[in-house]
Amino acid sequence: MTSKAWLSLGANIGDPPAQLAEALRRIDAEEHVHITKRSSVIITKAWGKTDQPDFANMAIEVETSLKPLELLDVLQAIELAMGRVRKEVWGPRLIDIDILAYDQIEMISPRLTLPHPYAHEREFVLNPLAEISPSVNQWLTRRVHSAN
Ligand code: AMP
Repeated sequence: MTSKAWLSLGANIGDPPAQLAEALRRIDAEEHVHITKRSSVIITKAWGKTDQPDFANMAIEVETSLKPLELLDVLQAIELAMGRVRKEVWGPRLIDIDILAYDQIEMISPRLTLPHPYAHEREFVLNPLAEISPSVNQWLTRRVHSAN
């Protein structure tokens, strides 16, 4: 049984587009994860902490037989292997990979909240997602409005 998940990738130090490409290569090399769609890469000004280089962001759709937490483990291992700098919240990062949504699952747990709790607030997440899946984009946006 495979599921679909939608991921957001971002980088802003080193060579951001090259790091996105490297992350895609590593994700697709995973035995139980297969990339089925990829958005274009967008370049945006840093958010939160603004005195840092521009970000490159994109979204992808994957098919996976991994459960949500297993997928998170795999993605965090890739972040670590690529040498993500974890010192500052919103600070520079070699690669950041978030799970925006996994099928229609809604869950809140210490390590994983689905859909991603802040995705709907960020255009650099929503715009690439809209390119590859308008329906997931609408689901994320609407469920927040209906909760308020
Ligand atoms: P960040 O520094 O923004 O990449 O946040 C990473 C932390 O968020 C990790 O400790 C994850 O366990 C947690 N987390 C919670 N929900 C998610 C999600 N949907 N995707 C990725 N990380 C998540």
